[in-house]
Amino acid sequence: MFASLAERLQETFKKLRGKGRLTESDVNEALREVRLALLEADVNFKVVKDFIARIKERAVGQELLASLNPAQHVIKIVHEELTTLMGGSNSRINLAPKPPTVVMMVGLNGAGKTTTSAKLANLMRKQGRRPLMVAADVYRPAAIKQLEVLGGQLNLPVFSMGDQLEPVAIGLAAVESAAGAGRDMVIIDTAGRQEVNEELMAELENMKETIKPHEILLVVDAMTGQAAVSVAETFNSRLGLDGVVLTKLDGDTRGGAALSVRSVTGKPIKFVGVGEKLDALEPFHPERMAERILG
Ligand code: GDP
Repeated sequence: MFASLAERLQETFKKLRGKGRLTESDVNEALREVRLALLEADVNFKVVKDFIARIKERAVGQELLASLNPAQHVIKIVHEELTTLMGGSNSRINLAPKPPTVVMMVGLNGAGKTTTSAKLANLMRKQGRRPLMVAADVYRPAAIKQLEVLGGQLNLPVFSMGDQLEPVAIGLAAVESAAGAGRDMVIIDTAGRQEVNEELMAELENMKETIKPHEILLVVDAMTGQAAVSVAETFNSRLGLDGVVLTKLDGDTRGGAALSVRSVTGKPIKFVGVGEKLDALEPFHPERMAERILG
């Protein structure tokens, strides 16, 4: 992931390090390269503009001239700003004051919602929770079966009522059954669609109002770049997301979505999908990601 972005930024900073003393134009030249690298990585234009402006403000001037190792100083600033851009620190799931915690997984078909629901259940179990997965994706053929198979592989329960009921009715029944079954977390795999449309948004709004989840997580495919960011914007404006899961970060995604989502939507990336296996979901750590990008 981000191979070309990382390579370009590392190259830029290598040049900067080789210079010893830095002039203002050295810094500007380096920032021009950073700007281009980010745009080529498909980072949102406005996000790049604000990002570069913030770094420039900090990196050019007294602070820099006074520092012992100016190149290192600039790199440190970029590292800090990159971390902030991605949300600062790791964000966790909102837990219910009184269990069960209800998590609504939302997203478009193909983003990885069903797989991520199972991966999240697996991760939550490792953290000591007792999750129940709910098969409420009634429109995508085979989604219910898929979740049941994944539940079988994980040896975790899956609540399903076929595909003839409304997702909200299934979700409600699942939440009602959870406490009695000793489950303290309910992860609902909601129905997606091929694309964002009014029917989907109205259905999810209705589910939110009826079920009152503690956490709404949007699953988006990092490979789709800025399209993922615009999906996140729409879902957030209608539903008020709590966080985003970026999937397929193991592929050769350029990084645009990872670097823009937080800034554009104001909502944190909470988890990233890094493979097809059921243990390939990680909490998202902005600082570690910045380190990976900057080398
Ligand atoms: P849904 O339609 O959103 O429920 O999507 P699925 O959960 O069925 O996932 C669609 C495809 O993406 C499946 O082949 C998954 O194995 C794959 N997938 C999901 N997450 C990841 C990921 O993080 N990395 C990779 N490489 N593949 C993923």
